[in-house]
This record gives sequence, C-alpha cells and structure tokens, in this order.
Amino acid sequence: MVATVIVGMLCVHLLCFAVMFWLIGRRLQGSPLGMDAFALGNAMLGSAYVLQLLGDGSDWGASVVVNHTLTVCTPVVYWVGAMRFFGRPAPLLKPVLALALTYAAAQVLVQWLAGPVARYAMLAFVMALMFLAMTVAVVHAMRGIARDLRVEMALFALLIGGLGVLNAIKGVLVVQDGLDALDMKHRFQVMFYVYMSFLATVLAPSMIWLVLRRLTDALRAAAARDPLTHLLNRRGLLAGLEGHFGARTAGPARLLLLDIDHFKRINDTHGHKAGDVVLCRVAEVLRRTVRRADLACRTGGEEFVIVCLDTDDEGVMRLAERVRLAIEQQAVPMPGAKEPLRCTATIGISRAFHNPDGFDAAMQEADAALYRGKASGRNRIEWGR
Ligand code: GH3
Ligand code: MG
Ligand code: MG
Repeated sequence: MVATVIVGMLCVHLLCFAVMFWLIGRRLQGSPLGMDAFALGNAMLGSAYVLQLLGDGSDWGASVVVNHTLTVCTPVVYWVGAMRFFGRPAPLLKPVLALALTYAAAQVLVQWLAGPVARYAMLAFVMALMFLAMTVAVVHAMRGIARDLRVEMALFALLIGGLGVLNAIKGVLVVQDGLDALDMKHRFQVMFYVYMSFLATVLAPSMIWLVLRRLTDALRAAAARDPLTHLLNRRGLLAGLEGHFGARTAGPARLLLLDIDHFKRINDTHGHKAGDVVLCRVAEVLRRTVRRADLACRTGGEEFVIVCLDTDDEGVMRLAERVRLAIEQQAVPMPGAKEPLRCTATIGISRAFHNPDGFDAAMQEADAALYRGKASGRNRIEWGR
C-alpha cells in the first residue's frame, strides 16, 4: 500500500515536471538546453509507472514489455538531454528507437528461454549498469564540459550512483528470492520507491536551477560585450579592471585609446555596412594582437580601448605600434570594388594607474593624447602627460 502510494505520487511528479520542462524548452526557442529531452524522459518514466499502477499483477504481457522498455530507454533520453544542455549535438529518436526495439526483443527472448525472474533480473542489472556508467560519465564531465558546475555534478553523480547501487541490489534480490522480491510490501521495494521519489523531487528543481544558471551566465556575458564586434563593452571593461585590481599582487594598468581615422568618410563612401565590416576587422586585429591578460574593448562608435595589465611603458608602446601597423596593413575586400578598403588609426596612451578609480583620469589623459595625435596628422601614437 505504502509503495503503491509512493509510486502514484512519483507518477504525478514526473508527469507534471515533464510538462514544465517542455514549456521551458519551448520558451527557450532555438536552444532548449536539453529541456525537450528531459521532458520526454520524464514523460516516458511517468508513463512506465502509470502502466505499473494500472497493471493487473501479471508478470507477462504487452503492458509489461512496454513498461520495461520505457524504463530502460529513459536514462538514454536523460543522457541526450544532458549532452544537449552542455551544447553537444546528440541525436535522440534513432538511438532511443533502436534501443527500444532491441530491448523489447531481448525481453521476449529471455522470457521464452529463462522465464520472468530472469527478465526482471535483466531489467535491474541493465538499469544498474546504465546508472553506474552515467555516474562515471558525470564525474568525468566535472573535469571537462561541466567544469563550471562541479558542485551540481558531484550531487548528480552521488544521486545517480545511489540509483545504480539500488538497482544492482534489486537484481541480486530478484535472483535470490524470485518475484517475491518485487512485492510492493517488500521492505526493499518501499525503500527503492522512497529513493526514486526523493530523486524525482530533488533532480527536477535542480535541472531548472541549472537552466537558470546558464541563462543568467549568458545574460551577464551578453551585457558585458559589444554586439557588433563581440569585444568587451565599457561595463565588461570595468568589471575586468575590478577583477584585476582585486588581486593582491595586481600590477599597474595602462590604457590605449584607439580611434579610426576619417571613419565617417568610409561610411559616406562605402555605406554603413562597409563601416561595420571595418569595425569588425579592427576588433579582430585587437583580439589577435593583445596578450591574453589584456582587456580589449569597443567603447562606442569607432573608438576602442585596450587596457594593458602588468606591463611597462616600453611594452605598451610596442603593443600600440603593433596594433597601429596591423591596422594600416589590413586590406578589407569590398564586394564590387576593385581596390580593397584600407584604414588607419590614431592611438593615445595614458600613464600607469593603480586602481579602478584611476580609470576615468586615464581615459581623459589618453583622450587628450589622441586629440594631439589627430591634430598632428593621424595614424600615429601619442603619450598622455
Ligand atoms: P577622425 O579621424 O577625426 O576620427 O574622423 P572620423 O570621421 O573618424 O570621426 P567622426 O567622429 O566624425 O566620425 C565617426 C563616425 O562613426 C560617425 C558615425 O556615423 C560613425 N559610427 C558610429 N558608430 C558606428 C557604427 O556602429 N557603425 C558604423 N558603420 N558607423 C558608426
Ligand atoms: Mg575617428
Ligand atoms: Mg571618434
């Protein structure tokens, strides 16, 4: 009775979250983060338990075959969902269909050759193997694709591992005690379904938490970047500076303010779209040229900022010259035009500053230097005073 009530609750839980996952996946449009697969997994497992509840107690029949097939396919569907969550393309229908047909055939064969006890034992051991393999894969992912979600993955590994162990014990009990081990009044069965119920209660909100984390991380990253060039924007730059100066061993920073020369002319002659292509190419030059620790940013229009961290005046000058030269030498092919488009840039450099509050003064210094560079003929580098 107790186990039956728990299975009933489990059904309701799984099916309700199937609908919720499906709705979340639809809401996420182009990239459902695996929610579509998790919805299907929940629906399949929920349906398997509905079949179990509606069953007439007989140990063989179409309903039992479908029930076990759905149960075996569910971990694979969840696995596909997890891969998709981490942005790995994973096919769903074909592998699941292939597994379903194979397992249905295996059930018929084992029932015919060895009877129902062997078939139930097969289910328990196959599930144990699947969950233990999933546990190993989750632990492995903690060092790879899921590095940023280590705590959550450790929890998942623990919970899924527990399920693997329980299924293995269930398999052994079935081999020992036969079908009596599956009686809903059996203490192990009650414990098994309490654990399943606990899992369904913990895992579903955890999945929603993971989606929320992914979305807020993506939002934060998007808010820190310029949508055209994908360089940092001012907000991202300031956050990077705070991060740098937050370290106890942080060295001084120097700032390069770069402005494309006669950019308005490029827009007027070749159109705004060509201007955008030039901006992207200049951004590419910056990305290629700066060191990994430096911060490259588009502050607006045709103005870019590079913040050089932990370097001296000489290093900054060398970087500025490399950037200036690379922009000068860059040829941007224009559709329909015989000659590629070329441009130059003027760069103003600030003196060293030692904390985030020095940023505004450094910008003013570099801006004044840039202005002098423009007045002195452009395509040059000027130091701030
Ligand atoms: P100078 O050498 O003195 O810097 O001259 P300039 O023409 O580069 O400077 P100005 O500030 O007069 O022109 C900047 C132009 O940049 C004006 C504006 O239309 C254009 N602009 C600003 N943002 C964008 C953008 O996102 N895309 C494109 N294509 N043009 C932009
Ligand atoms: Mg300009
Ligand atoms: Mg400008």
